[in-house]
Formats: sequence, structure tokens, C-alpha cells
Amino acid sequence: MGLEEYKRKRRFSETPEPPPKVEKKSRHRFVVQKHRATRLHYDFRLEMEGVLKSWAVPKGPSLDPADKRLAMQVEDHPVSYFDFEGIIPAGNYGAGTVMVWDVGTWEPLSPVPVKGEFVPGTDAEASTMLKDGDLKIRLHGKKLKGDFALVRMRSRRPGSKGTEWLLIKKKDEDVVPGYDIEQYDESALTSRSLREIAGDEGSAEWESSRKASRGKVKAPWLQETLAKMESKRKPVRAAKVQDERESATSTRTLKKKKKVS
Ligand code: MN
Repeated sequence: MGLEEYKRKRRFSETPEPPPKVEKKSRHRFVVQKHRATRLHYDFRLEMEGVLKSWAVPKGPSLDPADKRLAMQVEDHPVSYFDFEGIIPAGNYGAGTVMVWDVGTWEPLSPVPVKGEFVPGTDAEASTMLKDGDLKIRLHGKKLKGDFALVRMRSRRPGSKGTEWLLIKKKDEDVVPGYDIEQYDESALTSRSLREIAGDEGSAEWESSRKASRGKVKAPWLQETLAKMESKRKPVRAAKVQDERESATSTRTLKKKKKVS
């Protein structure tokens, strides 16, 4: 898909979001961003084919296999979006507050289970499964763990773009019956709430100068990010006031927009 649509929707002189850049390598990271835009939703993104394949999940992911969560496929995002947490200014596409709700790595699963269990697959299998609309993955996140499937729905509506998928937890030892996402409302990077992020102006400054070198430390990309975010943390003052102001501004400006971004 590339990043043309991502680029077309944004003005990079105004938004702190990272610029469009397709990476040569993919390192199997994933991120779920909690995004308070016109409507609150969660963005589920998988690093694949040099970009972040992305779905907007209105109710957020669940660890209960009984929950089949609607996931609207949206435009690919650049890989550097994976640790974006901050404020998209009013008047811009997706204006509102973004929290990194979960981060981690993912593995492709083989489309063919062995003795009823999913086993690791290849990137080629993952690309084919994505194309075919039945992608099976294993997540190693802070909040989300275990096997999941992303299944494209067959829409009966004429003119449907085929962007409606379901995100479903598969049965394994990581299942949490009756999973309530509201109980897990803090940033995986900074432990902040959306409200605190909205009140912390510093978090809107996107820094793209991450070092390219990767040591042998476990998950160095995550440690680097954590170190960066930690150094930027500061006491949050007047978070409530800022939060309400931001929220009011976003609502006013975006009243006409209906699409989940
Ligand atoms: Mn979004």
C-alpha cells in the first residue's frame, strides 16, 4: 500500500507525527495506540513490509475470545509511528491525544495448526494471510499476549471497500475471560493517562533522532524509547484544564468529520 495516503492526509509542518518513510527492514514490532480523536478508539499497528499495517478498533482489543472486535483497516503508517505519544493539534487529521497503550513484538503464525495448536510461521506466510484476509499472529506485548487472528469480513454492502475486519483472541493460556479494557488505562511507555498526556505539552514534540545502532540488549528499541520518554517526563501541572481545553477545541474543529482516523 505504501505511505501515499498517510502523506496526503497530513500537513507535516503542523503535526508532530513522523514523516512518511518506508523502511527496508521490518522488525516485528507492534503498537496499540489509544487515540482520543472525534471518537475514542484504539489503533492496532503491526510492523510489516516496511510500514505499520493499521486498523482502528473502536472498542479496543480484548483478551476474551468471545469478543470479536470490529477493526477498520486504515492507511499504512510509517514504522517510526510506533512510539508516537502526544497531541495532534486541532484542525489536523486525527486531531486529539495519542497514548501508546501497548508495545511489543509479534510473530507470524503458520496458517496450518499442528495438533490443534498454532505454530510459528514465516513472513511470506504472513503477507499471504494479510492479502487473503485471515492473518494469524502471536503477540508479545506488555498488555496483549498470545495468539490472535485478524479476519476480513465479507461485506454484503454494495460499494464496500473491504476495510472491515475482526480482531479475535484465540484460545490459549493468555485468555482473560470478561476482559475489561478500561481497567488498563495507562501508557505502556510512560504510565500516563490520556488526560496527563494532553496536559503535557512536551509530549507533543516528536523527536525522530533515534539512534540507529542496536546493541545486544534485549529489546533495545524499547529500552531506548523508555529512556527517551523517561527523560522527558516532568510534573504535570494543570492537566485537567489543558485536557478540557484540548477536548473542547478538537470537538469544535472536527464536528464535521465522521471517519475514524
Ligand atoms: Mn486513530
